[in-house]
Amino acid sequence: MSQLPTKQTAPLLEARQVSKYFGGLAAVNQVDLDIYPGEIVGLVGPNGSGKTTLFDCLSCLQSIDKGKIIFKGKDITNTRPYQVSRMGLSRTFQKLRVYRQMTVWENMLISRQWRGENLFVIFKVTDRHTRRRARELLELLQLSRLQHEYAGNLSGGQQRLLEIGMALMPDPEIILLDEATSGVNPTLIETIKDRIKTLNREYNKTFLAIEHNINFISDLCDRVYVLNQGEKLAEGTPQEIQANDAVVEAYFGT
Ligand code: ADP
Ligand code: MG
Repeated sequence: MSQLPTKQTAPLLEARQVSKYFGGLAAVNQVDLDIYPGEIVGLVGPNGSGKTTLFDCLSCLQSIDKGKIIFKGKDITNTRPYQVSRMGLSRTFQKLRVYRQMTVWENMLISRQWRGENLFVIFKVTDRHTRRRARELLELLQLSRLQHEYAGNLSGGQQRLLEIGMALMPDPEIILLDEATSGVNPTLIETIKDRIKTLNREYNKTFLAIEHNINFISDLCDRVYVLNQGEKLAEGTPQEIQANDAVVEAYFGT
């Protein structure tokens, strides 16, 4: 497991009393969290508890109604998603966002930092550095042999791996993973876990992962936050969370 934060380290990503309303519904309600460099942190909670909405807020895809989001010491509250991406925050989506009619290789190239070029420029004159990066990441994610396949022909798990690769193209410091193991067969879940571990330990990547897979959480996460009805219900180590009565009740009812 990666190093636990010490008081001397500044958090990489902070949420301060973040709230997001949809009409009368507080999808996210006064949530605080701190993610430290080098951590793998889990975010769990029943369906509809606000996990994806919180990711949308943290990545500035949704504006927030109250609170503050701080990334690398800078207030990024309600800035644009591309600015946050440039600063080093990437994410994946619960509902996969690979381009099914493009090849794996094209998906990787199109995912590097967007600088306003048209598609022709991206595919014809992408710089050597970007191509090398795409090659290395596909190698790392064991997708090289599929690089000429249409993304739509890949299995669910391979598409999840590809989306992780796409998120890594801008060379982020933190990656927010929204259910990276959902719809994935057990063998590929192990591959995804293993790759995340490698990216964390050898490439210094920090992760915040929405997960339902208990093995993923126990094996990979240093700490876990639990959301329920938009609010932070608990936080602690995977062991503490699993032994927490309020958490068990939120998941399974009384
Ligand atoms: P989770 O990811 O934990 O399953 P979500 O963040 O997707 O939860 O949803 C939290 C709550 O916010 C749910 O009640 C959901 O119906 C609602 N919600 C999410 N997105 C929207 C939206 N764009 N408009 C209205 N309600 C939404
Ligand atoms: Mg969700």
